[in-house]
Amino acid sequence: MKCRMQIDIKGIVQGVGFRPFIYNLARGLNLSGYVLNNTTGVSIEVEGESSDLKKFIDSVKTQPPPQADIFEIRSKHTDPAGYEDFEIRESEGLEEKFVPVSPELATCKECLYELFDLKDRRYRYPFINCTDCGPRFTIVKDIPYDRKFTTMSVFQMCEKCHSEYHDPVNRRFHAQPNACPVCGPGLFLLDNERKEIPVEDVISAACKLLKEGKIIAIKGLGGYHLACDAVNSDAVSKLRARKFREYKPFAIMVKDLKTAREICFINEKEEQLLRGVKRPIVLMKKRPEAPVSGEVAPNQKYFGLMLPYTPLHHLLLAESGLILVMTSANISSEPIVFEDNDAFDRLSGITDYYVIHNREIHIRTDDSVSRVERGKDVVLRRSRGYAPHPLLMKHPFSEQILACGAELKNTFCLTRGPYAFLSHHIGDLGNMETLSSFENGIEYFKRIFNIEPTLVAYDLHPEYLSTKYAHSLKNIRKAGVQHHHAHIISCMSDNALEGEIIGVSFDGTGYGLDGNIWGGEFLICDYGNFQRVAHFEYFQLNGGEKAIKEPWRIAASFLYKIYGDDMMNLNIDFVRGLDRDKWHILKQMIVKGTNSPLTSSTGRIFDAVSALLGIRKEIYYEGQAAIELEMKAGSTDKGGYEFAYREIDGKTEIILDPLIKEIVSDLEKGVCAETISARFHSTIAGIISDMCLKIKNQTGIGRVALSGGVFQNSLLMEKTFTLLEKRGLKVYTHHRVPTNDGGLALGQAVIAGELAKKGKI
Ligand code: ZN
Ligand code: ZN
Ligand code: FE
Repeated sequence: MKCRMQIDIKGIVQGVGFRPFIYNLARGLNLSGYVLNNTTGVSIEVEGESSDLKKFIDSVKTQPPPQADIFEIRSKHTDPAGYEDFEIRESEGLEEKFVPVSPELATCKECLYELFDLKDRRYRYPFINCTDCGPRFTIVKDIPYDRKFTTMSVFQMCEKCHSEYHDPVNRRFHAQPNACPVCGPGLFLLDNERKEIPVEDVISAACKLLKEGKIIAIKGLGGYHLACDAVNSDAVSKLRARKFREYKPFAIMVKDLKTAREICFINEKEEQLLRGVKRPIVLMKKRPEAPVSGEVAPNQKYFGLMLPYTPLHHLLLAESGLILVMTSANISSEPIVFEDNDAFDRLSGITDYYVIHNREIHIRTDDSVSRVERGKDVVLRRSRGYAPHPLLMKHPFSEQILACGAELKNTFCLTRGPYAFLSHHIGDLGNMETLSSFENGIEYFKRIFNIEPTLVAYDLHPEYLSTKYAHSLKNIRKAGVQHHHAHIISCMSDNALEGEIIGVSFDGTGYGLDGNIWGGEFLICDYGNFQRVAHFEYFQLNGGEKAIKEPWRIAASFLYKIYGDDMMNLNIDFVRGLDRDKWHILKQMIVKGTNSPLTSSTGRIFDAVSALLGIRKEIYYEGQAAIELEMKAGSTDKGGYEFAYREIDGKTEIILDPLIKEIVSDLEKGVCAETISARFHSTIAGIISDMCLKIKNQTGIGRVALSGGVFQNSLLMEKTFTLLEKRGLKVYTHHRVPTNDGGLALGQAVIAGELAKKGKI
């Protein structure tokens, strides 16, 4: 019997070869009708035998194109309309504008084959792409996803490209960035005074310069990279000196998996992540014999390594055979440079040359950073390849919400129906560039996802620029959200959990309800409420920000609290190395309590122990002392140190004095830093599991969510996870959104939505 079916599909279905797939599927089943893109996704009508219609819809559900992500299929049967043929129709603009935009896709196998095929018309063409790969989000200016609304609109397709673009069975059918050497963007080599250097082949010339140890600013997909030979220590040191970046590790890019295996230990899951279409930087264990300069990632056990993800990268790496440092081109904490003129202004003191192209980047996106934990991938910086792919929530949000995120590692989040659009990595908001990137990003997301928020969520810290931004908005309801509550709800949403949970929220800094700086928190919470049941006892942050940059201050303050002036008689290097003048000033500050905010920050405890062990007394990048403490930990573990509790006003305070005393005693005995660090990590894991068990026994809640920047520490994470599971608790950690402040906005949005639903805002 003949039937007609109307089908509406929502999801990532544009720019991913969806219409050719439908076209071929329908024709193969002898169905007539049409398919078209509209502003909510794809709309289809098919007509034919009802058994064939069933086959059709089954195939759509089970075998969609690899890059498509279907959120919703709605279909209904009607009477046949008498279509004769199946066709692809013009895109339609509907009233309700909403189409998720695909993230960037790494160069696909077919394109890669053509790129190195001498006979192909795109042989060595650095901008080859198709519906399965290439730029997306970074070139989209508006929706629907059509060439005229992308930065490719300035390039007129040649005859050959044009016919591919209009041929429904071609791999490049409606591939919006479709281009070739005749009609598409090109490459240029410039010196650092922005003068073009006439060369026959930019790739070959660039490879030669890199081999000579030169630094090149290379325009990529979401911004500029600074590249140099990662084996050449002089080149890497030069880059460090010019970038004023002393220690923070650089990411590297290698031509293939075989080379990657010479540098890192790589398991099956890490291989998948490396080779996947998202193509993040993957953190993996260094091989001791890795042929890479020690300057690339000093004091680290891991390399951040990625494979090429654009044709330009493939060409550069294949031809040079080099291992390249590929670090985001920026100045200190400013966001990645993505506009050409900005690159010339800002990078001229750093780079020797530029390799640029004339395909405009509309929105900047940094490389993403991921790693594998217990067989699952975990994203630490969610940007290129991930954003703006929405996170699908169990229930729709009660209204459209903007969540402004934190101050450091900022991302924002906008919601629409059941979708949370967590933004790409914006960065540290402390400078004008990043702040305008934040504001422009919000406007851009509102436009392309057609969102007009009626509620804004923000962190309670009055000095966060994201908070000030929220306060400056007019005609919108506002919801302040506590930092550590947001962390835990972010983790719950990441894992699609509801109800009550024990939240362990450990990080560096978060504004507490009592005005102190929280960061070592045990909460009982659900989406709408939280109760702080335990935390580390408060200690002074003498000098405020200065104590964060100089962790020796916290360590000295810990010792003074326990030993008083007798601390000077301790037989440990830390005391012997103490600058007496600086100590004298610090001691005044401790005694008088001036400029010494109180904190329960776990991050600062790690910093203090790092300083006490002589690993890192001053830091050059955020988290350095704690990271180097983790890296120092040996694999043999002689068990944890002592710790104590105190009950005050129904809350538990964890007392650190016994722990510090035991560390000092180990130091006096000459125990090595490797052992002490391992024991310290075990202690923190022990505290977490003891506290959680105690809370479970009191409340009956058996689920634990671990969140906050401290859980980027994979040693602590491993130890904690194992202990908690052993004690019968079910443990949840982050996967889809970062555990650090980069995931905070999601938690803020969910909490604000819940409060609104309950009529509390
Ligand atoms: Zn392709
Ligand atoms: Zn062309
Ligand atoms: Fe935080």
